[in-house]
Amino acid sequence: MSIISDSLKRIKPSPTIAVTQKARELRAAGKDVIGLGAGEPDFDTPDNIKDAAIQAIKNGDTKYTAVDGTPALKKAIVEKFKRENKLDFNIDQITVGTGGKQVLYNAFMATLNKGDEVIIPAPFWVSYPDMVLLAGGKPKIVKCDEKDSFKLTAKKLQKAISKKTKWLILNSPSNPTGAGYTKKEIEDLAKVLMKNKKIYILSDDIYEHIKYDNFNFFTIAQISKLKDRTLTMNGVSKSYAMTGWRIGYAAGPKDIIKAIGKIQSQSTSNPSSISQAAAVEALNGSQDFIQKRSQAFKERRDFVVQSLNNIKGISCLTPNGAFYVFPSCKGLLNKKTKLKTDTDFVKKLLEKENVAVVQGSAFGLDGYFRISYATSMDNLKKAMDRIRSFCESIS
Ligand code: PLP
Repeated sequence: MSIISDSLKRIKPSPTIAVTQKARELRAAGKDVIGLGAGEPDFDTPDNIKDAAIQAIKNGDTKYTAVDGTPALKKAIVEKFKRENKLDFNIDQITVGTGGKQVLYNAFMATLNKGDEVIIPAPFWVSYPDMVLLAGGKPKIVKCDEKDSFKLTAKKLQKAISKKTKWLILNSPSNPTGAGYTKKEIEDLAKVLMKNKKIYILSDDIYEHIKYDNFNFFTIAQISKLKDRTLTMNGVSKSYAMTGWRIGYAAGPKDIIKAIGKIQSQSTSNPSSISQAAAVEALNGSQDFIQKRSQAFKERRDFVVQSLNNIKGISCLTPNGAFYVFPSCKGLLNKKTKLKTDTDFVKKLLEKENVAVVQGSAFGLDGYFRISYATSMDNLKKAMDRIRSFCESIS
């Protein structure tokens, strides 16, 4: 009999982390690999945030804190929601964890019973289905079409709902497509959710600040009738280039927030005291960095989208947020190229041209691949040349 639990057998390691690891190994073996797999900004954490962490160490903020976040950080989060999203929360409606990932994991562990369904629009962030499975729930994957910019429509949502539906996950702007939902699109989904009063909504807003072309970010808890059924998750990883600091948070119904804290109290306890002090500065300090950084990302997005659309067999939408594009490689999956799937495409691209991207099927939608453009323009130029050479060589 295996020592490994049945619940662990239901899940697989993160495919995006696997690609990043593979690229790292090839690089260590002397290959000139360009990694476009990682989901993190290449920018450094701003100095004012680093200084706040150094000051916290000097002040002796090096002890356990309250399990689900310091009062100072919770207060900064309450103010963030008020300032940026026009949402009012009390301190006891806020929880802080070791990254948004832990907050989501705790939320599913705290709420899912065996057989409970979670609607996950595909393409999705790779961790959602596995977290749901680990918690004993059932992912209900709803494939979204390129013609809808890979976004969930009210019609598809209605069709996916069953008596067992407990949660709907919304992620805007999205990983892996970069698509952001407009206010109108969210209102359309809200109409369906208003009719189905038992469903809770998990809104993953981690890419809120990375947006382009005057896209107006709108989060579903802003629809007052749904606020009591929405857990809004966010964090400092992407917005403030703080992936390694591991701070994420959520706001929502008190009973869920309390349950999340209970799990945390028996697993990791508080997130790092020093990272929490840094996150207070990130949220309360100057936000200028966000604007500047978005401009740099926009230039990269424009370059990558244009370059990809100039390659025969590849087509790519222009997303309004995050730092990913999700191009189609369907035009190159045929007898002539001898490539059958997006996984074949991605593997051969890495083998032949040393460019690491992630296959769309890892995100629940075949025939596509994800590029993270959170890397230097030099790297992107080289990568686009190599992708073009590769596509020309096989067709
Ligand atoms: N949600 C989405 C959509 C993500 O892409 C990520 C990170 O890649 C997370 C949540 C978790 O971020 P973190 O745990 O760094 O806060």
